[in-house]
Amino acid sequence: MLQKKTVDDLQVTGKRVLVRCDFNVPLQNGVITDDNRITAALPTIEKLRKDGAKIILCSHMGKPKGEPNPELSLAPVAKRLSELLNIEVVFAKDDNVVGEHAKKAVAEMQNGDVVLLENTRFRKEETKNEDTFSKELASLADLYVNDAFGSSHRAHCSTVGVTRFVEQSAVGYLMEKEITFLGNAVNHPVRPFAAILGGSKVSDKINVINHLLEKVDTLIIGGGMAYTFAVAQGGHVGDSLLEADKVAYAKEMIAKAKEKGVAFLLPVDTVIAKEFKNDTEYKTVPTGEIPDGWMGLDIGEKTRALFADAIQDAKTVVWNGPMGVFEFENFAKGTKAVAEAMAALDATTIIGGGDSAAAVNQLGYGDQMTHISTGGGASLEFLEGKELPGVMAVDDK
Ligand code: AMP
Repeated sequence: MLQKKTVDDLQVTGKRVLVRCDFNVPLQNGVITDDNRITAALPTIEKLRKDGAKIILCSHMGKPKGEPNPELSLAPVAKRLSELLNIEVVFAKDDNVVGEHAKKAVAEMQNGDVVLLENTRFRKEETKNEDTFSKELASLADLYVNDAFGSSHRAHCSTVGVTRFVEQSAVGYLMEKEITFLGNAVNHPVRPFAAILGGSKVSDKINVINHLLEKVDTLIIGGGMAYTFAVAQGGHVGDSLLEADKVAYAKEMIAKAKEKGVAFLLPVDTVIAKEFKNDTEYKTVPTGEIPDGWMGLDIGEKTRALFADAIQDAKTVVWNGPMGVFEFENFAKGTKAVAEAMAALDATTIIGGGDSAAAVNQLGYGDQMTHISTGGGASLEFLEGKELPGVMAVDDK
């Protein structure tokens, strides 16, 4: 059970409610190319509208480094939100975020109206969690709701500082859903519990591996990070990704798995390529026998079957990180096989955000998973067992 207040615990009618969302969506020439993060925020916004709140939305986008940058304006998000909500979402286009436009728009709000503020990272105080900007944000509102799971691992003004200057704070439905799914999976899993980790670097996932070894029955490692483990087992990996300074750590983790009785699976075969591109010569070899001049870009056929088999009886599976360079079609087969195997399970299947979420959606398995997290970094920190500052800052029930 979540110990934090949620939107259901607030009396919002006629109140100004500042809602921190994660509208950090990909843009190409001012056009939003994936609006998943916007649609994910709708349940909270709609609930607040139904209850007659005055809703002031805020978010960051990209890394403007504390300065206004027209290319990272949230104006396209206001437009998309207007379409999705079927109302006019007023965009307060202040370069200083809480400026004349924002103040006027908020003063003119009726119950159920929605205003969107400009990119919070246009202000240099935002990422430093400085009180000046936190107070300005809070001055627009009576209540605060954090629904930005993807930003909740950062202690910024709009995720943490602002909570100190409003009457009450709560988490939104998206945040509640993320915490419930990820939290239950990791802390109260229905067993057998398997985790699958991939992606490029061991160093990004050191704490995740270490923490998950305390929790899982099976840990599967693929992707670029598997080669460091292959070297730890005495293998040769040619020109594959390798973090030589993490080989000792990989050895430690292999020993820890043994000690804990965790089934620890690494790729047994690898699809190797001459060059890092789709159209290049490729073939499959045993993982520890990659010749120089070749690099591993995907798990091989035997490994795909091995991994699928290893999760066959699992009742909870958490996956973070692709099995290969899925952006290249020729090397997407391993990632696809894992997505396919997970989709077929009668189990709780959870996809950590970032690349694995993109891969699952891109491969068309999105609606066959129990939960796809909207937060990459945040879900990783959750899997490390860390408490997220943006959640901690919210009022307890
Ligand atoms: P991460 O951000 O650490 O989750 O890593 C995701 C990235 O890892 C994706 O862009 C993949 O293309 C990349 N990746 C996965 N497997 C490999 C590999 N064998 N070699 C190089 N990059 C890989």
